[in-house]
Amino acid sequence: MGMSQPIRVTVWNEFRHEQSDAHIRAVYPEGIHRAIAEYLEDQPGFSVQTATLDEPEHGLTEDVLAETDVLIWWGHQAHAAVEDEIVDRVHARVLDGMGLICLHSSHFSKIFKKLMGTTCNLKWRELGENERLWVVEPGHPIAAGVGQYIDIPHEEMYGEFFDIPEPDTLVFISWFPGGEVFRSGCCYHRGRGKVFYFRPGHESFPTFYQAEVRHVIANAARWAATTDGPEIVYGNVQPLEEVTVSA
Ligand code: ZN
Repeated sequence: MGMSQPIRVTVWNEFRHEQSDAHIRAVYPEGIHRAIAEYLEDQPGFSVQTATLDEPEHGLTEDVLAETDVLIWWGHQAHAAVEDEIVDRVHARVLDGMGLICLHSSHFSKIFKKLMGTTCNLKWRELGENERLWVVEPGHPIAAGVGQYIDIPHEEMYGEFFDIPEPDTLVFISWFPGGEVFRSGCCYHRGRGKVFYFRPGHESFPTFYQAEVRHVIANAARWAATTDGPEIVYGNVQPLEEVTVSA
């Protein structure tokens, strides 16, 4: 996809906690989805829309998904409220080439677990300690323009063991002052689609306003965007060459 065609991003958010809790609302008055979208809207090469859980079909209609190159997903307390039919629809679009970026507590979303096939469980602690994400794949496009590490002043801790399949590429490893480490930037290919899991983004901290975090999300959206690679063909096919089989 050339620069002339914008990458069509849909930022999806559960958007419940910001409405039910004044402390969360104070951090993200318009919701986490808007904090992410407002940054991407200002970057060249993106066309951005948002969708939330309580919209009809969770805002993820067939039409919306057909016109989405990258879906960004944030959820934490209402994973179970996401309809299986919509999860299946998103899953099919990923296999068909749509990129998916799962943020923070979306490790437990139905769509991420379905794509991983594991429990996606982990350790956690909410003290607001700092998080240091080390770049461990410096040549990767998601690390472009990032220093050796990103320091986030206050975050929730996630620790290993993180029950995920081994990533195709691991871009970040996080360190926390309590001693834990975590695979915090994980790339996967599923069918024609690309999936990136990025760990930061607890709802009570202003992580999605931090420049380096926003920069990584934009890099990841460019990396994960739908490409015009070959259509996948399955099933019984005729040989391309004349095949002679001896009796
Ligand atoms: Zn959290």
